[in-house]
Amino acid sequence: MSVDTKTLSASVVLCICGTGTVATAQTDYARFRDEVATIRIEATAQRFEPRQSVVAGGFPMHTSNYDVVAVWDPAGERAHEAWDMSLIYPVPGSMQIAFTNNETVGIRDQEGGLLGAADGPMESSRIGANFKDLWLSNPIILLAHAEERASSRIDGDERAVERIELVLEDTEWLVDVDGSGLPVAASTMENDPHSGRIENRIEFSDWREVDGIPFPFRLEQFTGDQLVRRELRSAVYVNPENADSLLALDESEPAPGDPAMRRWGWEMSHIILKRAGGGNIGNFPQIDNVAFEEIAPGIFLVPGTHNNLIIEGPEGLALVDASWYPERSATLLDRAAERWPDKAIKYLNLTHHHIDHTGGMRPVIDAGATVVTSARNAGYFRDIFEATMRRSVRMIEVDQFLALDEIGREIHVYDVYTEHADGMIAAYVPDEKLLFNADLFSPNRPLQFSLWFDDLIKAVEWHGIDVEKHAGGHGAGIAAHPVDISGHAMPVTRMVVPAR
Ligand SMILES: [Zn+2]
Repeated sequence: MSVDTKTLSASVVLCICGTGTVATAQTDYARFRDEVATIRIEATAQRFEPRQSVVAGGFPMHTSNYDVVAVWDPAGERAHEAWDMSLIYPVPGSMQIAFTNNETVGIRDQEGGLLGAADGPMESSRIGANFKDLWLSNPIILLAHAEERASSRIDGDERAVERIELVLEDTEWLVDVDGSGLPVAASTMENDPHSGRIENRIEFSDWREVDGIPFPFRLEQFTGDQLVRRELRSAVYVNPENADSLLALDESEPAPGDPAMRRWGWEMSHIILKRAGGGNIGNFPQIDNVAFEEIAPGIFLVPGTHNNLIIEGPEGLALVDASWYPERSATLLDRAAERWPDKAIKYLNLTHHHIDHTGGMRPVIDAGATVVTSARNAGYFRDIFEATMRRSVRMIEVDQFLALDEIGREIHVYDVYTEHADGMIAAYVPDEKLLFNADLFSPNRPLQFSLWFDDLIKAVEWHGIDVEKHAGGHGAGIAAHPVDISGHAMPVTRMVVPAR
């Protein structure tokens, strides 16, 4: 084991083939498979979430900073990670989470954060995401273990690279290596609720040698060209002495893992880890919790981690928000068809562009719903639809106010100025005087955000909306207007949007 690292000179690394020549696919990465049984990485990182930006398509929301220690046994499929997090968004605070997992099961030890202390079995989706990320973050190890399918020379703007196509765990990976055999980037295509498929790519620099083995000490990760993570490594250890004790899992403790959920998280590691960057633990598709809770005559809350709203009219249904995930929306469509066999979902009102409230939009749009969104988000959504949907999508753009009447029951849509998200709208059912918002006020939930709540109340007053009942994309049931959130409100840090 070596504690000291030194900056790597490209000329001492692998096979060096002369000026202008890229390394060949015959570079002997396989030897690292034998030489590296375990690694320990110590780093500091920043996480960003592009789909939680203030402005749709704008600079990604900075969700957290954290120090991380990761110990990994790639061949044995064992990992231990400890994250000491400073949470920024959506709820400022601190959170410490440590997890130890083998291929499909794991245990977690967590303190702080939105949920407070929570120890228990590791979510299988997070296990899959973590392992995927370890491979993608450590391209020399990936090259050592994966099966090589092909390689080709790519002439880039600045330099030529050798693009090596790999297969590991039924997943295709691309690693671009420079003339000295060092990876400059690794990527893989993943599932994405909005786009269907998206590139998950990490770029590597600051290569240093540890016990004769090159490791990148600087990483930048992107999905669809948008920044999601920066990582600066302070130390890497090869075959550290205490690895086995950190990786040991008490077999009697964890509940059996779910291989299907592990794969679900593996195929969507960028989403699971973006959520982790905001202080979430693991995710699930939310197909078991689809229910219609009638909160006013003909108005139904569909509870979940993020609620939807269904408004029933004599001539059809309107859905407000399509929260996580496409699988949940598909189930919601099936249940709605059973309950209202003669009524189609004619409108999909999207309160704002954030992916947690829109990640289920594709199945609803595929089923024929007209999208209702703020004019300020229309271009963003149109780009997604044109790039990824097979059918043309009918969109209605809301400027300040719009009345929808195609379900035979009036629905009003109002814009709300809030820095939670530019292009926010709220849906109002005049005959019940019920207003549905997302993220600004969450009925009957202890956690509130005072500035966002103020934004909603100002919109109610400015538009002169005659509100008696509130429902929300979070929270439960309805709350009577006016609402007093004093005693619950958490101030929100004003977001600074830096230049890229
Ligand atoms: Zn939001």
